[in-house]
Order: sequence, then structure tokens, then C-alpha cells
Amino acid sequence: MKLTFLGTGTSTGVPSIACDCETCLSNDPRDKRLRVSILVEHKGKTILVDTSSDFRQQALRADIRFLDAVLITHCHVDHVFGLDDIRPLNFRYGAMPIFANEIAWVDLRRIFQYIFQPVHFGGGLPQLIPHTVYHNAPFCIGEDLTVTPLEVIHGKLPVVAYRFNDFAYATDLKYIPPDSMDGLRDLDVLVLDCVRIKPHSTHLGLEEALAVIEDLKPKRAFLTHLNHDIMYARDSCLLPENVQFGYDGLIVE
Ligand SMILES: [Zn+2]
Ligand SMILES: [Zn+2]
Ligand SMILES: [Zn+2]
Repeated sequence: MKLTFLGTGTSTGVPSIACDCETCLSNDPRDKRLRVSILVEHKGKTILVDTSSDFRQQALRADIRFLDAVLITHCHVDHVFGLDDIRPLNFRYGAMPIFANEIAWVDLRRIFQYIFQPVHFGGGLPQLIPHTVYHNAPFCIGEDLTVTPLEVIHGKLPVVAYRFNDFAYATDLKYIPPDSMDGLRDLDVLVLDCVRIKPHSTHLGLEEALAVIEDLKPKRAFLTHLNHDIMYARDSCLLPENVQFGYDGLIVE
């Protein structure tokens, strides 16, 4: 399995507009973060998690040629506002399967009403094949990739963490219910939310993220959805050996 970190930034992206902090002024490419998204490739299947606000730029940068499916974690702007940019792939290959939970579908159908109830829109529309995912109800993509949706809580919002065989992606969460914790054990790689060093009301802060990793004991863990409080080179010393900050363009095999 190959993971490509397409974006590792919080909702504003890093650098943040009009900010002169040390991270936002950093020349380290690992401190330049587009909105959060990851690409999962396994045995000829390519799956995107979230069409971030920066999806077009990410797809060009990673040279994405085809997507077998898009999985949505939740319907917040930073995770879905690139949805319209799947159109070039639709023009080439037709409709694309999109997976999301029931709550996200309600919001997606409202926000992207022009897709679901087209009126007199000029030009091509995104073409979706909607699928609803349910907590702990695994499904397969291709022959060898089992995807298990697990519910995690982002403030008050139920969000989907996705497990792919021995890899899991869990962003935008403050709390992981016990049965979802059990679904996240025995992982080779966990990518986990960590918005900043300090605690936050709807995301994991660094201490909480490390406590989750300590409990789940994945072989390796990567932190994502990072804001500008976190500077890669300066703050990596805060992490245990098997944990690192993700950065845009990072590939994990
Ligand atoms: Zn987010
Ligand atoms: Zn800043
Ligand atoms: Zn969110």
C-alpha cells in the first residue's frame, strides 16, 4: 500500500493569510500545508480521502490520473470544497463513486444542490455515484482492499475515520468511542488528527494525540491537520520515535 499526503494543513492552510509567525514565514517545504487530504493506492486501486479546498492543486501536484473512489470524512469546507474539481476525471471516465455517512450526505446535497438538482447550469456537472457508509460496516474496493468506516466525534459531529487493511486515517476528531478504538488496533500505520500543540475544542491537541497513539500502539503514526503552531523542524523533538508530523508530498509505503 502506498500513501501520499496530499495536504496536511488545518482549515486555513499554512502559511495562514496575513500571518508573520515563525512557521508561516518558514522556508521549509514541510511547513507549507495545503488543506488535509490523503491518497491511498493498493494493488491498482486509487482512493482519495476528501476533496479538499485545494484538491485541484493537489491532483496536479501528485499527478492524479484516475480515482476509483472518493471517501469523505465529513462535510466541512476544508474537506469537501474541491468536489467540483473531480469534473476533468468525469469527462474522461464518467461518474465516480463517492462514499460518505448519512449526516455528510445531507449537507453535501444542500451545499452542492446544483449537482443533485440541476436547473440551467451551463457546462459540465460533477458526476457522482453516491454511497452511504455505516459505522463498522466494511466494504471492499477491488479484490484486496477492505475499507472499514469507524465513527469518531469531532466536537459534536460524527465523522468517519477509515481503516484500509492495516492502515487507518482518522482526522478531525476530539473523541474516539471505545468500539472505534478497538477498530483502530493492530495497525501498521495510523494517520491521526493533531491540530496544534495546545488542546482544542473539536480536534486533538498534541498531548491527546500522543495518548491515543500510546493506547492504540500502531507501528508508526503520522500527525496531520496541523496548524501554524507546529513547525516541523523545531517541534519534531516533541514526538516519540515511532511518531512524526506529516507533510505535504510525504509518501509512505
Ligand atoms: Zn478539517
Ligand atoms: Zn502563522
Ligand atoms: Zn472538520
